[in-house]
Amino acid sequence: MEIRYKSTRSSGGTVTASQAILKGLAEDGGLFVPTSIPKLDMSLEDIAKMDYQETAYQVMKQFLTDFTEDELKSCIKRAYDEKFDTKEIAPLAEKDGVHYLELFHGATIAFKDMALSILPHLLTTSAKKNQISNQIVILTATSGDTGKAALAGFADVEGTSIIVFYPKNGVSKIQERQMVTQKGANTSVVGITGNFDDAQSGVKAMFNNKELAKTMDEKGYQFSSANSINIGRLVPQVVYYVYSYTRLLAQGAVQKDEKVNFVVPTGNFGNILAAFYAKNMGIPVNKLICASNDNKVLYDFFETGVYDKNREFILTSSPSMDILISSNLERLIYKIAGEDAKKTADMMAALASSGKYSITEEMQFQMKDFVGGWASEEKTAAEIKRVYDAAGYVMDTHTAVASAVYHDYKERTADTTKTVIASTASPYKFATSVMTAIDEKYKGMDDFALIDELSKVSGTKIPNAVEEIRSADVLHDRVCETEKMQDTVEEILGLA
Ligand SMILES: *Cc1c(COP(=O)(O)O)cnc(C)c1O
Repeated sequence: MEIRYKSTRSSGGTVTASQAILKGLAEDGGLFVPTSIPKLDMSLEDIAKMDYQETAYQVMKQFLTDFTEDELKSCIKRAYDEKFDTKEIAPLAEKDGVHYLELFHGATIAFKDMALSILPHLLTTSAKKNQISNQIVILTATSGDTGKAALAGFADVEGTSIIVFYPKNGVSKIQERQMVTQKGANTSVVGITGNFDDAQSGVKAMFNNKELAKTMDEKGYQFSSANSINIGRLVPQVVYYVYSYTRLLAQGAVQKDEKVNFVVPTGNFGNILAAFYAKNMGIPVNKLICASNDNKVLYDFFETGVYDKNREFILTSSPSMDILISSNLERLIYKIAGEDAKKTADMMAALASSGKYSITEEMQFQMKDFVGGWASEEKTAAEIKRVYDAAGYVMDTHTAVASAVYHDYKERTADTTKTVIASTASPYKFATSVMTAIDEKYKGMDDFALIDELSKVSGTKIPNAVEEIRSADVLHDRVCETEKMQDTVEEILGLA
């Protein structure tokens, strides 16, 4: 069955998957959603016999129906290769009674690699399919991890260039070093004086700027997005939910049709939305547990039906979740509004003007698969220590938010459903927070010294991604004010 893509904000025409990937965002500012969520056309028992790459093909072919088998398989092959430090690509670690789905074995040791290692290939394939000759300019706002993963994915990919904006004071030291040392003549990295939401709003404004698009086209450029709003990011993320479930099935950890919970440390709502899509494809799911840190907009939303971003923006030890506008939530809103583009557009307009919208009781009922939870900084740190003491397993701060939320949930509900926690970053990426959570004595120690200590206490090898940046040169030092983001892009591209 052909799957086409439509905007969440207008009931206009549909586009093919490759066109949706190229555009990133719909022209009306909405997000592309599939006309229907496809079902897997193979049994889970059969998928359980496949490796990651084969599973990826089974899932992605259902969504990207205008890609040929050769095209899609070639993208998958180039993405999920030796860049990952394990053949399993996304291994499960059973610790302390739950299954941690480790999504951090790629080039930049965070889960964004799962999608960003394939997106450049999906994008260049899409360009070829649509006879695009412009150079594709990837414009990205990052709260830390997307930036590096996108840079690594696109560096020196022919026919593309990439510009990444990040909040200068809103990412970890290691995250910043990873980005500013990025090689590749087609890469640019810019710190902004605002926070992540400012960066994201600035990028969105440029995407919606028709005049800018025209100038760019005249000079042989066009924008595309590597942010999690791109359907080419979302679809590859559905894969590891199918993969993790079928691994549990293969191990006998779950029986046929047995449901599992997925717990996801959430920021922009892309990862958990992928889990929701996996459920709709046929994976037996009980609850999708959406874990937030102190920036608990989503928790409040699931509790009250009111989305309200009017609150203090809090910098936490899980910076990739320091987000007040969860862009991908729009796709869920659209679905629970009965695919009513007008209603969705109205709510998003309210969000833009007053920072707030509320959903009806009926819509709230449609979200019954989801449970919200949140963990404070204290709880997050305590969870890292608790699991380390109990199981010798060291997790990062984002994963710890999810783990803490899960244990609260389990205590509150006595739900004994088998549970998979999405483990979204390597602890090495957040060594300072992780090590001081384990023992106060590490306070004040240098980042790289802590990395060595982490390797000792966890008995794990220091990932290449970390070894690499120890000695690398800083290649990017551009900083701009939030209001100057467009000027900066024009300067980089030589448009002015
Ligand atoms: C991006 C990110 C998240 C949040 O994922 P979303 O898809 O934006 O909800 C959580 N943890 C880490 C480590 C991340 O990089």
